[in-house]
Amino acid sequence: MSATLLRPGPLARIAEGIAPFVALRRDLHRHPELAFAEHRTAETVARLLAGWGYRVDTGIAGTGVVATLQRGEGRRSLGLRADMDALPIAEQTGLAHASRNPGAMHACGHDGHVAILLAAAQDLAQHGDFDGRLTLIFQPAEETGSGAKRMIAEGLFDRFPCDAVFALHSWPGEAEGRFGFVEGPAMAAVDLALISIRGRGGHGASPQETVDPVVVAAHVITALQTVVSRNLDPLDMAVVTVGAIHGGEAANVIPDSVALKLTARSYREAARALLERRIPAITRAQAESFGATAEVEYRRGFPALVNHAAETAFARDVARRLLCDDALLPGFRPRTASEDFSHMLEVRPGSYIFLGAGEGPSLHNPRFDFNDALLLPGAALWSGLAEAFLSPA
Ligand SMILES: [Zn+2]
Ligand SMILES: [Zn+2]
Repeated sequence: MSATLLRPGPLARIAEGIAPFVALRRDLHRHPELAFAEHRTAETVARLLAGWGYRVDTGIAGTGVVATLQRGEGRRSLGLRADMDALPIAEQTGLAHASRNPGAMHACGHDGHVAILLAAAQDLAQHGDFDGRLTLIFQPAEETGSGAKRMIAEGLFDRFPCDAVFALHSWPGEAEGRFGFVEGPAMAAVDLALISIRGRGGHGASPQETVDPVVVAAHVITALQTVVSRNLDPLDMAVVTVGAIHGGEAANVIPDSVALKLTARSYREAARALLERRIPAITRAQAESFGATAEVEYRRGFPALVNHAAETAFARDVARRLLCDDALLPGFRPRTASEDFSHMLEVRPGSYIFLGAGEGPSLHNPRFDFNDALLLPGAALWSGLAEAFLSPA
């Protein structure tokens, strides 16, 4: 994208000064930090924001940072959130800016999300035309699903009231630099079920003297396929995946027990409640029919991420105005991945925006690297959104 062709406004302003943010993004990539250990990242963020005139509060949910900037008398407040944590993955990119922390890697692009929000923060502090309060939320521990929840529990929105809150994620496999908007459910609720099937072990040559938990597990796994195909409303969505099965060691020994691990995903609460009810019921009844028993532990994880309609439409209009119609990913569909920003959208209106990253390794892949070409459109969207949401009367 040539700077000379850019319309005046955030895009042209940020394009001029983007180079240091490419360097910053790579520096963050070189120094990835796992959930709740984002000390260097948080210090970098806090130092830069304070230098640009933000009021900076640190130590929220451990390593979380919140920066605010009040301009004029406006009483509206906009929250923009970036996640900061890396993953416990050994990087295999071979890049010059590859991780220097063995076993940790920015394989989800959160280094890029931080750099995008900082580029917008500098632009807004130096050139932003707005009236009201800007609240920038740098969140720890998205990958473990605990950062957003803990920030809220520690009073995030009481201390820093927000009329709406937005976040974005780079998305490999979608056209580079274009935005995907989804109204309503956009990412799935994710739950975990741990199943232990107990029979009675014995000699593989004498099955009549045993209760074989391997055969029971086979029936349970097959029967679990009917939760989605036979119990769920066909117009609804859910996924039941048995991702792990462990039992037995030897070919001629029937074990005492078999363990299963499941992931269960859904968008609507009714579907989630159905999974929570039917998975244990089917498992126990199947086990009982063979004279075995089953223990089922069903753990709810992240809730579904549900975008609010008005805020999603607002952000889409900003993207269209800033970057023209080509900026949108038409017909972008919800994803069955999950994201803990869902907790923030449960208590504040807002939207979670997808930013196409072009072709390349998927998220959480050891060869993934954030696409630096996204820094400009991402930061321009945040600046444009802030100016529109907090537009002077
Ligand atoms: Zn991730
Ligand atoms: Zn992520």
